[in-house]
Amino acid sequence: MTAQVIDGKAFAAEVRGKVAEHVARLKDEHDLVPGLAVVLVGEDPASQVYVRSKGKMTTEVGMKSVEHKLDVNTSEKDLLALIDQLNNDDSINGILVQLPLPKHLDEDLVINSIDPAKDVDGFHISNVGLLGTGQKSMVPCTPLGCLMMLRHHHGSLSGMNAVVIGRSNIVGKPMAQLLLNDSCTVTIAHSRTKDLPDVVRRADIVVAAVGRPEMVSGDWIKEGATVIDVGINRIETDEGKTKLVGDVDYASCAERAGAITPVPGGVGPMTIACLLANTLTSTCRAHGLEEPEGLTA
Ligand code: NAD
Repeated sequence: MTAQVIDGKAFAAEVRGKVAEHVARLKDEHDLVPGLAVVLVGEDPASQVYVRSKGKMTTEVGMKSVEHKLDVNTSEKDLLALIDQLNNDDSINGILVQLPLPKHLDEDLVINSIDPAKDVDGFHISNVGLLGTGQKSMVPCTPLGCLMMLRHHHGSLSGMNAVVIGRSNIVGKPMAQLLLNDSCTVTIAHSRTKDLPDVVRRADIVVAAVGRPEMVSGDWIKEGATVIDVGINRIETDEGKTKLVGDVDYASCAERAGAITPVPGGVGPMTIACLLANTLTSTCRAHGLEEPEGLTA
């Protein structure tokens, strides 16, 4: 079997298009412009790239983009004061603090100081709890993007066996929760899991979020399974250049899978699209307006 490629780049463009249409309607009918504030502390090069592209795409869908770039030595008190100011700013509907933060800042404290209604990353402890109990919440962007692709490909996920490899708070755990909420039978595998290939072989859906280049090999994949590769790993090629690969060995897995996401061009573009979708959702909720269909969990 040769897998169907799930084109995250094209699907993300579709999602951004829907967001842009909805944003235009909000402006026309309610004179509302959703605002997203991104806070970056320090000068981590990868974070700077992410923040730039988030800002660009926010403006492209017609939202207001605000960037706060703070010095690497910014105190916790000053950062919390900025978040408080953004929490109280009615023109801001989404607040994202780019992680990782410099070591002297308490990440949990900072994230939990964001108004949960504006927590478009979905990392606030209230949103984690709401998701865990199947209530309306802000859902972390990367797992939301994976869920959207899976629903788009399969329709209903009910009764499917899903294996999520990785148990991080930002990908693995919320991904498992979302699949459970969609009535999958979910296994979370991690670094201590015994016989990982055997566990993965039971899966109709495999989500790999590990951070180990090309770890999942084709002979772990059940014939016809859907493989979602969250990993982003930069490796050196034989020619001494570098390239991006996922956590999945694409060539061998594509031979057995029914469908697979590539890296790059799979989950990555969906993450920012879902950030914009979450900012739109947060705006609609703040004003008691109907939420956009198909853009939330
Ligand atoms: P993390 O390091 O926080 O978690 C990795 C998880 O993998 C851990 O739970 C660990 O138990 C598990 N693990 C490690 N070694 C393992 C092994 N040998 N077998 C089984 N499980 C193992 O990473 P994360 O933040 O969840 O990110 C995972 C990957 O996803 C990274 O490559 C990251 O760059 C990527 N990522 C991509 C996006 C995106 O937008 N596409 C977003 C977030 C993260």
